[in-house]
Amino acid sequence: MSFWKKITSYRWDGIEAAILGKTAKDVHRALQSPVRRFDDFLAFLAPDAAGYLEEMAQTAHQLTVRRFGRTIQMFAPVYMSNECTNACAYCGFNRRNRIARATLSVDEVVDEAMVLHGQGFRHILLLTGESPHHAPVDYLIRVARKLQRIFASISIEIYPLATDDYRRLILNGVDGLTIFQETYNLKQYATFHPSGPKHNYRRRLETPDRGGKAGFRRLNIGALLGLCDWRVEGAFVGLHAAYLVHRYWKSSVSISFPRLRPAAGGFQPPFPVSDVQMVQLMCALRLWLPDAGLVLSTREPAMLRDNLLPMGITQMSAGSKTAPGGYAAKEKAESQFEVCDLRSPKEVADMIAGRGYEPVWKDWDASFLNA
Ligand code: SF4
Repeated sequence: MSFWKKITSYRWDGIEAAILGKTAKDVHRALQSPVRRFDDFLAFLAPDAAGYLEEMAQTAHQLTVRRFGRTIQMFAPVYMSNECTNACAYCGFNRRNRIARATLSVDEVVDEAMVLHGQGFRHILLLTGESPHHAPVDYLIRVARKLQRIFASISIEIYPLATDDYRRLILNGVDGLTIFQETYNLKQYATFHPSGPKHNYRRRLETPDRGGKAGFRRLNIGALLGLCDWRVEGAFVGLHAAYLVHRYWKSSVSISFPRLRPAAGGFQPPFPVSDVQMVQLMCALRLWLPDAGLVLSTREPAMLRDNLLPMGITQMSAGSKTAPGGYAAKEKAESQFEVCDLRSPKEVADMIAGRGYEPVWKDWDASFLNA
């Protein structure tokens, strides 16, 4: 059993029709309901829910404070390599783009991480493109071994691996897996991922399952907003998250909201998502999945990030660089996309504190496992 099996019982058109068929009365009823079903979630994604956004945001805020308190967990990405064998239409690292490429040595990754450590981070996210030749699992393990002595939590956002490789990474200090399906629309997925191993929709879709089986403590999923209709995409993200929560109950599940940003290659999103639509999606997910973490990156502008804070966000990146070597002042290669919130980690932490929340740099220690 995997999410692949589950998703085949849903049709994109069917979900779209169900969302568009929801009325203001359905939204009102869903808001009042003490136990929310998938159908209620679809109502929150409907055009008619726009009139209830204020009420949805307030309820989302209350649910989040009840479940997570007024805390925002801080993290930052470290790009280890921008080598890639795929040709994702929207990505600056697309193998067809003629950009400067680099893979950091293990020591260079540690240099990058130490800059973040000096800024206060104890949770980091390690990223690569999809090139096992340049960034093999053994290389990732060597990096993790060095960093696990310094960081409380190490997550990876890399190419899909087999369950046993994930187990090896977990044994060497990696505790979180981020993998975005990009789009759940099977047909469009093939268009945006024309070649390379990522062309295989099912292999990517089943990656969080393999991560859950391997025993990652954190599983983070998402869709790239702007590729397809955000309402239907959001419905599939919610379905996937609910499935993971149910099936891998020992892992904490979170959802990211990556919205397409300018990148090398000049890709234009066919379905741009407005700020208001982002808010609606975020609130809808929170109302349906009160226990899911919601992650907001520096792809978004500072003011929007500040305003989204009380609507259900639980994790934020800050001061991010999206090129290998971006922190240690010796940028070696092209970035994946342009970051929008350029504030320093301290400025972001001050903003969070100024709004009555606690920026949390460390919420976990491996020694808990032995307690
Ligand atoms: S999105 Fe990932 S897999 Fe696709 S081209 Fe970019 S780095 Fe490679």
